[in-house]
Formats: sequence, C-alpha cells, structure tokens
Amino acid sequence: MRAVVTGGAGFLGSHLMDRLLLEDYSVVIVDNLITGSLENLEHVKNDSRVEFIKADISEPISVDGPVDFVFNFASPASPDDFRNFPIPVMKVGGVGTLHALGLAKAKGAKFMMASTSEVYGDPTVSPQPETYWGNVNPIGPRAVYDEAKRYSEALTMAYRNWHGLDTRIARFFNTFGPRMRLNDGRVVPNFIKQALLGEPLTVYGDGSQTRSFGYVSDLVEGVVRLANSSYQQPVNLGTQVEMTVLEFAHEIIRITGSKSEVSFLPGLVDDPRQRKPDITRAQTELGWEPKVELIDGLNLTISYFKAKLGQVTL
Ligand code: UDP
Repeated sequence: MRAVVTGGAGFLGSHLMDRLLLEDYSVVIVDNLITGSLENLEHVKNDSRVEFIKADISEPISVDGPVDFVFNFASPASPDDFRNFPIPVMKVGGVGTLHALGLAKAKGAKFMMASTSEVYGDPTVSPQPETYWGNVNPIGPRAVYDEAKRYSEALTMAYRNWHGLDTRIARFFNTFGPRMRLNDGRVVPNFIKQALLGEPLTVYGDGSQTRSFGYVSDLVEGVVRLANSSYQQPVNLGTQVEMTVLEFAHEIIRITGSKSEVSFLPGLVDDPRQRKPDITRAQTELGWEPKVELIDGLNLTISYFKAKLGQVTL
C-alpha cells in the first residue's frame, strides 16, 4: 500500500506518517514547509519507504506511480497562522484540496480530508455532533480557515457524489503532542513554553472559554480506523475532557511545577466560547475512543518542549 500525505512534515501529518509506516504503507510526503518542518521527518530520512516532495498543493501536483490512499492533511492550523498567512490558508484548503482530490481520482485512490471542529465556528450547541451545521462568521479573522475547511468538506462530498471517489472526512478537535511548533501561538505550546521559562501564562479574555484537548496518538488511531472503514459521513475525533482555558493554565503551572502566574490579555475576535465533541459516531462506527489521559499526554509534550528549549531551570 502506498499513501500520499499532504502536510506530512507537519505536526499531525508526520505522526500519521509514522503510524502508516507501522501499518506497512510506504508514504509520499508532500509539503511546502510553510509551517511543517524537515525536523519532523529527520528520524525517517534514511527510510526507503518514505519519499519527500517539497511542493505547495495549491499548485497542481503530480506523484509518480500507484497511490492507494491520499490523506489531505496540509494546512497551517494556528489562529496566528490565520492572521499571518490568510491567503495561503484559503488556497491550501480550497484549491489545494481540489488538487489532492484530483490526484486521488487520477490514481483511483481513497481520499481522506483532515477537517476540523472549526467548521462548527462558535457553536450554539454543546457537545457538537456531526449533524450540527455550525455558526461561522464568514468574514471574521478565523474565516480563512473555517470557510476553507467547510469548502473542502463540500468539495470532498461533491467528488464522492459526482465522481464516485471513496472519501472520508475527519473533524479534529484541539490536538496536541510532540512536534507542535514551540512558537505556533496555540494555547498548548504557549502555556508550556511560558511555564517552563517562568513567564506569565497569557490567557486571552477572562479564560472562561472551553476546549477539549486530545493527544495526537489517539487522534491518529481514529484516522487509521476511519481509513479502514467505509464510513463516508464526517466523524468527530477528539476528547470529551472539556476545561476552561483558565483551568488549563493552572493545570500547566501545576504539572510543570512552575512559579509562573496567569496574566489576562484582551480576548480574540470570534474566539469560540466552547468546544467539546460528541463522539458517539466514532464510538459506534469505528469502535474508537481516546485512551491517553490528559496528564500523560501533557507530560510527554512537556518533555518534548523542554528538550526543544534546551536546559531549562525553573
Ligand atoms: N489562548 C490563550 N492564550 C494563549 C493562546 C490561546 O488564552 O496564549 C486561548 C485562545 O483564546 C482560545 C484557546 O486558548 O480560546 C485555544 O486557542 P488555540 O490557539 O490553541 O486554538 P483554537 O482552539 O482557538 O483554534
């Protein structure tokens, strides 16, 4: 079996690559390295089963030879990225997805779209089931990502219905783990870095907004199960351990043993107030549920960031 993973040098994509190698796939990584990094592929640089193509899928892509599965995981994913790279974010989710779908069609390959809880926007129901259509501001600062992902889902279903492509859609909720970028601006790397450096943890707004954090290996397990199933509707993948951002800040301070305090900064525009997946579908269709406790996942992630920061004295 041979898979193409777009965004395979990124956080989620590189963990997926590792898992696919264990499943006896060979893997072609396509990544333009806008937010991905070759460091995430360093451990497989001599593995003949892995090929790397530096390319932007917003341009037409070609891959030689047979392909069994295209996993479309390319996109900057941090709210900071939405501000820094708004057009590339829209292009990769829109025309990039079109090219990835075209590749799957040309190769007769199966296709998986890495979508997101962001399709629910600032949800008015909680937890969010896949049947909820969402509450997205189409012109706000997050719209470049949210709307691109909503478009990519629509495009994926159109290819299924029009071309008979064998497609899957995974909707990831907040996912964390090693290989996140230390400076990507998201809450997990920010808080861990700040706690390790003894700096104040920057809570945006009053910190009452909620998130549910899932550890990357659990999410990748969900991806593999979805890939091996024939389920065609979107599937939420995430944990139901919902907490406020303020609680999360205190948890990071506690686990790291840091002397940092919390500082409150102005809230972000359109920051979703709550986010918690309904995972009934993943449970019933895939027999999947998250296994890694938050504390265990955080400890693994903290070790990774400690190494990245070099020797840190608290
Ligand atoms: N957040 C925060 N401080 C930070 C970074 C993020 O309070 O330094 C908050 C942010 O406002 C949001 C939540 O943490 O409510 C999760 O933000 P993240 O950027 O990780 O991703 P999102 O879930 O918003 O896509």
